[in-house]
Amino acid sequence: MMELHVGVDDTDSKRGMCTTYVGAVAIRSLQEEGVEVKGYPKLIRLNPMWPHKTRGNCAISFTVEVSPSQVPLVKERVLETVRSLAEMEVETTNPGVVFYASEKIPEELKSYAKKTVQEVVELEEAEALAREVGAEVHKFKMGRGLIGALAAVGHPLEKDWTYELIAYRSREYWGKPRRIDPSSVLLMDRLTYPRTFDNLDHGTGEIRITPHTPCPVLYGIRGESPEAVLRAHELVKAMEPVELVMVYRTNQGTDEHLKKSTISEIRPCTSVILEGKVASNPRTIPGGHVIFTLDDGTGTVDCAAYEPTRRFREVVRGLREGDRVRVCGGVREEPGIPRTINLEKLSILELVPLFRKKNPSCPRCGKSLKSEGRSKGYSCKKCGLHFPSAKPKLIPVERKVERGSFEVPPRCRRHLAKPLVREIHREY
Ligand code: ATP
Repeated sequence: MMELHVGVDDTDSKRGMCTTYVGAVAIRSLQEEGVEVKGYPKLIRLNPMWPHKTRGNCAISFTVEVSPSQVPLVKERVLETVRSLAEMEVETTNPGVVFYASEKIPEELKSYAKKTVQEVVELEEAEALAREVGAEVHKFKMGRGLIGALAAVGHPLEKDWTYELIAYRSREYWGKPRRIDPSSVLLMDRLTYPRTFDNLDHGTGEIRITPHTPCPVLYGIRGESPEAVLRAHELVKAMEPVELVMVYRTNQGTDEHLKKSTISEIRPCTSVILEGKVASNPRTIPGGHVIFTLDDGTGTVDCAAYEPTRRFREVVRGLREGDRVRVCGGVREEPGIPRTINLEKLSILELVPLFRKKNPSCPRCGKSLKSEGRSKGYSCKKCGLHFPSAKPKLIPVERKVERGSFEVPPRCRRHLAKPLVREIHREY
């Protein structure tokens, strides 16, 4: 028996389809042939700042344990599934499939996968690496999906991972409004959170498990273990048929896209962790977005909390010049606007003490003195005394924010962003 890893990417378009569905259908058809699929298939989210992604930049991979004589059947089934389901007629859909026979994933494939999550990779680089490690590649049209397919095969998911259970719709329902019982989702969340997470926006009550695109996904439930997502799935009441259910192991919710950086080293199309001081008090710009400038000693950069982040903006608004913060977010570079960090998380490390000035009081009558003008001292109107060297009192002002970590609400969260609840409940 041997292990064969299969990777697939770039099968969908904004009009429809989903690479996870292609993977699920391929797995189902292999299992129907008696092929053994090892463990959980992988759903790997790649660089969220990659501009040519369709939506969530995901690729999938799974491993089969087969005899050498079964290999042609596996390859044919997978390629046939991609051929029949991928949105081939859409110009920007360029599927790639990778087959890799190996007991062990070599280090260079693991590093390549990490690079594809954090940076930008060229198709030639993926092809050269596939040749080097002996992976078989299949390109459809331009075959750009090869980049993600190889990354999904190479991703070890060995440091941190989560699970997503995806329920798929019957074909006749694709494109129609999704119907699930909202109260069952609230109950599911109440009974399973935080073993499941980001399925409901607790701030707004918004249900997060159903996508708004015409793809085959009815809902996806995120959680910490297969048991947690399966239990949640049992609680959710769908009011239309579910054609297929697949549990994926994934790098979602792990912060794998973030890389520690300094402001001078920031590169486009990446997501960074920066530490520095607030260099300007936050300002609210038209549209309700809140921006402040960060200085880390190597340079300055604007950091933005956009309008949809709602209450997160209140935290950002409470910052003051001199506060020490750590920020996480994607680097936004667009012509005509300054380079901006699109905030995902903010840690307030140190708050500068703030004071307001108060006129000193008269040592004789205790009433508040009046200023005589800049550097001219103070006088008491009642006693008629003059105090040329009196100074204003400095009264501490209570800060509106506290030290701690803050995050954008689930509705604004990137698939890869690690919700704070995952850090708090590490034992899960
Ligand atoms: P969905 O999430 O709905 O499945 P998607 O957002 O994953 O769609 P794709 O249609 O798969 O989008 O297109 C993304 C394309 O970009 C793929 O061809 C993939 O190989 C490629 N790609 C992904 N990450 C990178 C990267 N870091 N550098 C270069 N190319 C990348």
